[in-house]
Amino acid sequence: MMLIRPYPDEQETLQSYVIRLAKFNHYQFEHWSQHLSQQSISLRQRDAKSRELLTSYLHSVTGMDNVFNLFDQWQFYNKDKRHFDYKSIKVCPLCFAENKGKILSLWALRYYLVCTKHDTLLVDKCSKCNSAITENTILQGKCGSCVKEVTTFETEVVAPDSFSLELARAAQNQIFDTTVDLINKLLIIYTKLEACSSFIYQDGQALWKKKQAYSIEEKYHHQMQVAELVENENKLVSAIGRYVNLALEEKLYDLGKVLVKFKSYIGNEKFPMMTSAIRTFVLTSEFTEDQRVGVTWLNNLFGFESKMFKNFIIDKYPSLVFKQSVPLNMAKTIVIDFKGNLS
Ligand SMILES: [Zn+2]
Ligand SMILES: [Zn+2]
Repeated sequence: MMLIRPYPDEQETLQSYVIRLAKFNHYQFEHWSQHLSQQSISLRQRDAKSRELLTSYLHSVTGMDNVFNLFDQWQFYNKDKRHFDYKSIKVCPLCFAENKGKILSLWALRYYLVCTKHDTLLVDKCSKCNSAITENTILQGKCGSCVKEVTTFETEVVAPDSFSLELARAAQNQIFDTTVDLINKLLIIYTKLEACSSFIYQDGQALWKKKQAYSIEEKYHHQMQVAELVENENKLVSAIGRYVNLALEEKLYDLGKVLVKFKSYIGNEKFPMMTSAIRTFVLTSEFTEDQRVGVTWLNNLFGFESKMFKNFIIDKYPSLVFKQSVPLNMAKTIVIDFKGNLS
């Protein structure tokens, strides 16, 4: 048993509790970490089995049953690591002051960027010298380089983005207790962010692919822009329109090729608004004579029975079909006609 055994807080991460055990017992983090590697398993082990062994060891030295309830993002490393922060530690300095140096589970979620209690952007660096926040920073409660106290790190006051708000609400509804729900929620947010990133970066800005290198502030601005689109289908339809028009300037006429990045979002139940917005775009926009759409692509978009749809077009519009595609400005007529034919 350890000499001093603080109570785990149900809102803190396992990492946070590990750090606090070192702090309360006056261990240096390196020594404590070495001790864990020798007696149990390294803190850096990433497979679920090792994480269980580590948690069991912490239980045996603290006697605290709720160690098993603490959220541990490393247990998701092999399958779902995209949703969590590992290298960096994000904190709200105001919460950090209030909760006496704990790391909240919410902060480990990659899309949680704004503290919804204080309306402040989370920070992962010392505001004075820019050094990254590490486990040692948390343990000491101050920057390892310039000794500025974490509770005095400066933060930017911002309006929370809707993804941070959604996650804060989910946390209040105990989402951390149900792994399946948590991953599902994160996957929906991830899908929306990925799906809309092409619209936001269509003006030749850096690619969302490099998002890992973005600062919290850059990620926040990205999330705010995506939120605007996913909360308003009309705006999403307009964004699709701008995207298609830009491609038109480059003489790209096949809608399926223009929207190739969106292929996996058509019919995707994680983000149904994307499918519905592309349908609206096809049915309500004006197109040039050159713009075309593949019959198969159109069929996928509207979820029709493919053979029936193809035969219908060949029968009804024999002169239109050329290389399996039809003029885009006829798509609306064809789709409405086919639906009428079905009923
Ligand atoms: Zn806060
Ligand atoms: Zn510093």
